[in-house]
Amino acid sequence: MSKLTLEQEALRRRTFAIIAHPDAGKTTLTEHILLAGGAIRAAGAVRARGENRRTQSDWMKIEKERGISVSASVMTFEHNDKMFNLLDTPGHEDFSEDTYRTLTAADCAIMVLDAAKGIEPQTLKLFEVCRLRDIPIITFINKLDREAQDPMALLDEIASRLQLDPAPIWWPAESGNRLRGMVEMGTGRFQPYAKKPAGSAEDVPHPDALPLAEAAQYFEEGEHAALVEARELVEGGYPAFDRQSFLEGHMTPVLWGSALRHFGIDELLAAIGEWAPPPKTMKAHKAPPAGTRNPAEPVATTVEPGSTEVTGFVFKVQANMDPNHRDRIAMFRMASGKFQRGMKLKVQNTGKQLSVNAPIMFFASDRELAEDAFAGDVIGIPNHGVLRVGDSLSESGLIRFAGLPNFAPEILQRVRVKDPLKAKHLKKALDGLAEEGVTQLFRPEVGSDFIVGAVGQLQFEVMADRLGEEYGLEVIFEPSPWAEARWIGGAKGDLEDFMGKYRGQMARDIDDDPVFLAKSSWETGYVMERFPNVAFTKTKERG
Ligand code: GDP
Repeated sequence: MSKLTLEQEALRRRTFAIIAHPDAGKTTLTEHILLAGGAIRAAGAVRARGENRRTQSDWMKIEKERGISVSASVMTFEHNDKMFNLLDTPGHEDFSEDTYRTLTAADCAIMVLDAAKGIEPQTLKLFEVCRLRDIPIITFINKLDREAQDPMALLDEIASRLQLDPAPIWWPAESGNRLRGMVEMGTGRFQPYAKKPAGSAEDVPHPDALPLAEAAQYFEEGEHAALVEARELVEGGYPAFDRQSFLEGHMTPVLWGSALRHFGIDELLAAIGEWAPPPKTMKAHKAPPAGTRNPAEPVATTVEPGSTEVTGFVFKVQANMDPNHRDRIAMFRMASGKFQRGMKLKVQNTGKQLSVNAPIMFFASDRELAEDAFAGDVIGIPNHGVLRVGDSLSESGLIRFAGLPNFAPEILQRVRVKDPLKAKHLKKALDGLAEEGVTQLFRPEVGSDFIVGAVGQLQFEVMADRLGEEYGLEVIFEPSPWAEARWIGGAKGDLEDFMGKYRGQMARDIDDDPVFLAKSSWETGYVMERFPNVAFTKTKERG
């Protein structure tokens, strides 16, 4: 292959994530996308990979016991001259914070809906994050092989609940036992569906697509005419797909299928390749690291994917598979440049430099040393706690990306170590886990408590497990007096006034930023009203 420019390399990348309510079929779809992309040969490999990984790590026992996937990762594959980076987001709602952060590294999201259920609570939450971050969305309506809701009702739900214009790319002919296939709106191409023979475990291949006019053999009495008519109605009733509107977040192309039966998956992958955006120009600041003498004011700048300096940010830190080593793998999303193994990169906020000698690329079946990587790619950088979620890395050490959110925890608990002699180890361990983003840590200004915040209960279990396995600390979580946490901001005088009045409810987060702990949501509302000049926020963007 001829040598591509940095820009061309960036242009052929598609970095995307799948968002779904649990059970909508995200895992199954991931697997079938990898299959369609030639990254794996047989279904079942994604779970097998998971199991293999689990046996390598004791703390992931919890994953195994619960049968859920706790840690997000990425899978890279090349298909039709494009490089796809599929970011794997944990589906369990307790881990939504992790999912949210993963979405900061995605350029596009595939929203999977269960055709029988439509939009579910977690779909809505994740969709809102995508909207906040201007991530365009491709909709895949799954499980057509089961009895589905009326397709028009599903589209209307997307329009009314998400305020998103649905543009059907295909239209299904029935569902469940009567599923015949689907027709492509513009071309009138019909893709027949092959039912699995009763009693057979084997999938049968779906027949080749053909013009709808010639496809009568795939239908029963009256159904063919009904589909021809439906297609006309739909074409008149819904807007045609407009890529610009999709990229701006106003429109979503809608595809249909069955992940389990590998129906509609090639079409979905083609849509991602064709329409999902390549890495975009990113907003950033140019600033010397903290502690620099005579620091200059940060200057707003933009980073083009095709520019030569290697830049990017860490959106996740994963504990190493080997609990005997305190190594961590920082998931680094590249924003520009050509990364080469052995390169030296600097952390913007600390000024620390690291030689990246063993970067990892994650392929579906195994992991390999990354020799080079481009904008849009995600590489794993092993380190000993130098890298934290939200860190920006670049060759110059001057580029800082904003926008990695911390979310106000929904559960706040006090943590205590059972053996009082080990109390001093607790802080270090809690700091470590908070740096990884497993949970958030708050140190009240008054007293010596550690308050741990999480979005869901399961995070505490993972944490207790890891404190035991990795740090030898047996801990107890106890209820705390606090119901909510809010970051506060505002003019110095206003802040000092507020903090003086509420000293007993003030805490510091891991970056030493002030946090107000409220006893109830009523109290949060009350202080917000009483101190209108203080901003109380539910999210904090690091950087
Ligand atoms: P996740 O929780 O979103 O990752 O969902 P999974 O991929 O684990 O799927 C949840 C359940 O739905 C599993 O039992 C799958 O076998 C099933 N499933 C997924 N896709 C389909 C589909 O297209 N058709 C049918 N009938 N079942 C499906």
